[in-house]
Amino acid sequence: MSTPPPSRRPIQALPDQLISQIAAGEVIERPSAVVKELLENALDASATHIAIRLEEGGVKRIAIIDNGSGIPKEDLALALQRHATSKIASLTDLENVSTLGFRGEALASIASVAHVTLTSRTADAPHAWEISNVTGKTQIVPASGTIGTTVDVQDLYLNTPARRKFLKSEQTEYGHCAEVVRRIALARPDVSFSLSHNGKTTMQWHATEIAMRSEHILGEDFAKARLALEHIAGDETNGLRLYGYVGLPTAARARGDAQYFYVNGRFVRDKLLTHAVRAAYQDVLHGDRYPSYLLQLDLNPALVDVNVHPSKIEVRFRDSRAVHQFIFHAVSRALAQTAGTSSTSHTPSATTTSPRSGTMPWIRTPQQASFGVAQTTADYGAIFSANTARTPLQPAAEAQTDEHPLGFALAQLHDIYLLAQNAHGLVMVDMHAAHERIVYEQMKQAIGESRLPVQELLIPVTFYADAIDVGTAQEHQDTLRTLGLDITALSPDTLAIRALPAMLRQAEAESLARDVLSELREIGSTQLIEERRNALLATMACHGSVRAGRTLTIAEMNALLRQMEKTERADQCNHGRPTWVQISMTDLDSLFMRGQ
Ligand code: ADP
Ligand code: MG
Repeated sequence: MSTPPPSRRPIQALPDQLISQIAAGEVIERPSAVVKELLENALDASATHIAIRLEEGGVKRIAIIDNGSGIPKEDLALALQRHATSKIASLTDLENVSTLGFRGEALASIASVAHVTLTSRTADAPHAWEISNVTGKTQIVPASGTIGTTVDVQDLYLNTPARRKFLKSEQTEYGHCAEVVRRIALARPDVSFSLSHNGKTTMQWHATEIAMRSEHILGEDFAKARLALEHIAGDETNGLRLYGYVGLPTAARARGDAQYFYVNGRFVRDKLLTHAVRAAYQDVLHGDRYPSYLLQLDLNPALVDVNVHPSKIEVRFRDSRAVHQFIFHAVSRALAQTAGTSSTSHTPSATTTSPRSGTMPWIRTPQQASFGVAQTTADYGAIFSANTARTPLQPAAEAQTDEHPLGFALAQLHDIYLLAQNAHGLVMVDMHAAHERIVYEQMKQAIGESRLPVQELLIPVTFYADAIDVGTAQEHQDTLRTLGLDITALSPDTLAIRALPAMLRQAEAESLARDVLSELREIGSTQLIEERRNALLATMACHGSVRAGRTLTIAEMNALLRQMEKTERADQCNHGRPTWVQISMTDLDSLFMRGQ
């Protein structure tokens, strides 16, 4: 039983200023959120040049200058009012939002917690007009200015000190603002951006296409180790289209800071989407590494709700399972390029970058709606047929006609690398990594088809084990058997290995068993084992592969090359390292400065 509040206030409509401040709390929790809203407004107004000027991490000042369509004089006062928007007028519009903004509350919210001056000029106006809330009363005065809009926001949270206290250091706030600019600049390579902080230019990108813009923003390392991807499923009303770049495992990072996902042109950080991509990388990436990617998903806006979160960073799909599966599938297929289908012109990075990367249809302006809605059918038809004719990504231009794309073995280098010759030049293989990948894929497939060949040991291998290992072996008997391992307890501190997968017969049985047990111990619950099974297989594969340092005969080397060609993902080993590289004749010629 709770005691009633001492004096209950009557229900009252909240004053507009207060409503705006409450909304502001959700929409603009920090300076970077202001930057985001203002940038989106500039893009919605078709700006092609946008300058962002920050002072003191944006807290002192955020000025955004665009060359967009401008705001007519008669709309200026409204622009600062709540729920005033030129972008939607009905519920149907709301369900088909194609502009970035639509709530009509950003400017009002910002104006409720900061000094805002809005200067704008449309193409047919002889000069600009300005409105400002700095003096308390808003009035519209003539101003000088070119076509477009400047929004100048000063002294953010001046009247809400509680929120101001939550802000981090100037540098941190600046960092968040810069990240927002990067996200938007990646979505719109056709727009020039410049960013300055405390008077110094910190970033500047000229209008270009996505291949270049992403190289500028995500760096050369990503540009060199990425796959261009484009995948379409379904028809125009229910279709899904995923396109962009996925970084090779070699471009993975220690933090998830190079992951950019856009839904209908809008940056999102959504659990479902992140999970789908992550799952696709599971086989080629170590658990503690984060893949890099830059992906856009287009779908009919009626099938996705972007209105769930005030800052619109999360979305809700009508059929989230289908979306998850589609993305998982598209990214998995991209990563599963076989060694045999890679084009073989330079290094593995170049081989896997689609030649179409520069021409990828990337930019979605607010005027073009998303998949199946306003975009012309002809446009998509072309992508559709191009795409069904071949699965994404395989660089079609360089179809491999030779039967053995990885060529024939020449020699072994320091018992670590295998050297081979193919039509394009020299192939170098990391023998251990390549073999590990083959063993892993073979075991995975065999287990999937419940036909993993098992080798019984004539003399069981026994070893000393602690109580937890013995317990683990007993508890996970079934799992061990699925993995082809028969490990039983002989005494409270002795385990015996009676069988192991035939593919691993050359492995050192005891250390294999110890590694698997310790991994099982770590995983703990039985439910998790299924999820982590591929990780277990990777551990096992490592034991079964040719160790660096073993000398192979030429016949064995050729057999390895042929197996690599047959194995999916043979060009990335389980730990995400490449397994082979191509050095073309052109590469070699340039090393020796031939023909220059
Ligand atoms: P929303 O973007 O949700 O419509 P805002 O509060 O962000 O709401 O903006 C209100 C209105 O002001 C917009 O609908 C648009 O008409 C106008 N506006 C805001 N910023 C700009 C700009 N940079 N250029 C042209 N018009 C703008
Ligand atoms: Mg807006």
